[in-house]
Amino acid sequence: MNPTPIVVRKYGGTSVGSVERIRKVAGDVVRDYRNGLKQVVVVSAMGKTTDQLIGMARQITDRPSPRELDMLLTTGEQVSIALLAMAVHHLGCEAVSLTGSQCGIITDGSFSSARIQAINTKTIRKELEEGNIVIVAGFQGVTPDSQITTLGRGGSDTTATALAAALGVPCQIYTDVDGVFTADPNIVPEARLLPLISYEEMLEYAASGSKVLHPRCVEIANKFNVPLEVRSSFRDVPGTKVVKEDKLEKVAITGVTGDAKIGRIALTRVRDVPGVAAKISQALADAGICIRLIIQGINHDNSNDVSLIVAQDDVAKAGEILKDVMSQVGAAEVKVDPDVAKVSVIGSGVASTPGVAAHMFQALADEGINIDLISTSEVRIACIIRKDQLQAAVRAVHRKFDLGNLERKELNGV
Ligand code: ADP
Ligand code: ASP
Ligand code: MG
Repeated sequence: MNPTPIVVRKYGGTSVGSVERIRKVAGDVVRDYRNGLKQVVVVSAMGKTTDQLIGMARQITDRPSPRELDMLLTTGEQVSIALLAMAVHHLGCEAVSLTGSQCGIITDGSFSSARIQAINTKTIRKELEEGNIVIVAGFQGVTPDSQITTLGRGGSDTTATALAAALGVPCQIYTDVDGVFTADPNIVPEARLLPLISYEEMLEYAASGSKVLHPRCVEIANKFNVPLEVRSSFRDVPGTKVVKEDKLEKVAITGVTGDAKIGRIALTRVRDVPGVAAKISQALADAGICIRLIIQGINHDNSNDVSLIVAQDDVAKAGEILKDVMSQVGAAEVKVDPDVAKVSVIGSGVASTPGVAAHMFQALADEGINIDLISTSEVRIACIIRKDQLQAAVRAVHRKFDLGNLERKELNGV
């Protein structure tokens, strides 16, 4: 006899945004349990709870202690797990809710962006064996010395694939859209659902700011070969399956992404001598700030202008740090610009298809959108533009590549 199948499912904030929504999720989970599916259900905080908690912290102080902020934010998910467990009980099924710490998710100590180091699945396995639906608080973990941590905004996706990898079972991410589209369907109405996408493309989507999946979630799924699916919690329709690249026909462009959550810092007339880029990068690394993009251009007087793109939440701090470094690198000025955004085209054929860059730049030019910085890789072309032009840019690029009509062949009959 085959063992009872197990799946990890994750429901995001909108999917558990009200008591009615929690009842609906409980109904779906119980239906599948009665049909013989064991489930570990990861949930996010209800609706905009996490934003509201951050708002409250900011009313008290501009610089909340990272430890206390994580302590505060993890309460959001705790509300959801308890309510969902009660809703399942109400339907006559056994369920148990577990916090990140109770279900053995061990992280490092980087508050607000902790990384999972190990998962002890003993408690989850025991609860599953006893016939419980196991309901887990997403986005949180605990350090070996018992400090409560969070995994970064959107981190419940990562909790789900990490648990699926540890248990050796598939993962389904339930959200408020039908799956992964050629662009954010809330911005581009004619965007098309992608029934299949490769892990590599999905990684690029996530890294370029499409929040449909958290970047670490895709990295983990890719590394541990977790079968991953994105589906709607609102409609019972097929979603998107994330598959190995060799199962898919290569297409020049898979989709377009927009990222408004970035900022730019420019250092002007920096000395053109060895070691300058190292000093700038080290100063930011010492403060735990990641550089998303760095571009250096030479001036007529042989000095350099250096532009850095960092996450929006880091831009003010990065600006202050670089003002301290300014004299060491001989910069004339440090300019902080939080009002930039990034529009990217993603596809395995970007580098091998002539004219992709020209096409994208023309789409932006036709819309009167000025490009501030450009960065390219084998699989992506990204342009830094003004934040208030981002939505128009995503729509224009999507239209120019006619992605609403993208057809893609499946190889080897997936
Ligand atoms: P959840 O709360 O379920 O985690 P998120 O808000 O984090 O949901 O992610 C889902 C949202 O991602 C969608 O509502 C959509 O606006 C956005 N999104 C951005 N790019 C895409 C895309 N290419 N395909 C689908 N959704 C996208
Ligand atoms: N509640 C957290 C957030 O809003 C984690 C998540 O929803 O994935 O970022
Ligand atoms: Mg999310």
